[in-house]
Amino acid sequence: MGRKHYFGVGRVKQGLEGEEPVHYLFDKIKEIRALLKNKYLFILLDYDGTLAPIVNSPEKAALPGKTRELLVRLAESLRCKVAVISGRALSDIKARLGLKGIIYSGNHGLEIEGPKIRFITPIPAGYQKLIQRIKKDLIQRISSINGAFIEDKGLSLTLHFRRVKKKDVDLLKTIFHETVIFDLVSNKIKIKAGKKVLEVRPIVEWDKGKVVLWLLARQKFAKAGSNVLAVYIGDDLTDEDVFKALENIGLTVFVGRPGYSRAQYYLKNTAEVGDFLRIVIDLLEKD
Ligand SMILES: [Mg+2]
Repeated sequence: MGRKHYFGVGRVKQGLEGEEPVHYLFDKIKEIRALLKNKYLFILLDYDGTLAPIVNSPEKAALPGKTRELLVRLAESLRCKVAVISGRALSDIKARLGLKGIIYSGNHGLEIEGPKIRFITPIPAGYQKLIQRIKKDLIQRISSINGAFIEDKGLSLTLHFRRVKKKDVDLLKTIFHETVIFDLVSNKIKIKAGKKVLEVRPIVEWDKGKVVLWLLARQKFAKAGSNVLAVYIGDDLTDEDVFKALENIGLTVFVGRPGYSRAQYYLKNTAEVGDFLRIVIDLLEKD
């Protein structure tokens, strides 16, 4: 029987040829401790499925109290900087965390805000109007499918189907693609898939990987003279862009079932992310 390779619950088969197997992080904790020692850490975290467990209704995805405490301690540490990079709208992710002193990035990097930083990716003229039209069309066309809903994130639209019955998912996807196909082939929008979501996004060469490299360069500039190491933890397809961008230059961790990923290590769930962050704090406070 062949092994199954997939990312978390999304079960997207990747089969990246020649990829190294991903190690369970706690099996390699000694090496990781050695790597982190005496470094200034730039800790970048995804939100859903990484810090907060995935739930059926995305509006209910809350940060566990213990994880919040850990993030507060990390944010206060002089030995690290924290950034949360989410597919959610910036206003949503900021409200959900409500922590000071950290960098927030929403819409997979299209929006960034934090101490001394504020950035919104320039969007092609007419795009906002276009996605409002797509939103209207989609809402009308998916109304017959139970559990499907559209989230308007300003710069992007998300079709959620976690609550849709399995037998209706293919039909829903077909409706989605039929609705956006004209704007897609005329290069006015981009489509990205995630865990139980499909997204309409602007045509810009900007993804989580690029935003992380940009933030890391800024951090290295601000902390010139110290040895800055980027640590990235994420659970979804969009996080693979970051794992690739940080190959050989950072520590990358995938959250979910082990499978082919460009990340170096994996953790099984959001609780283990908390356990790892606790180890990181102990290291920062000790050395
Ligand atoms: Mg996620």
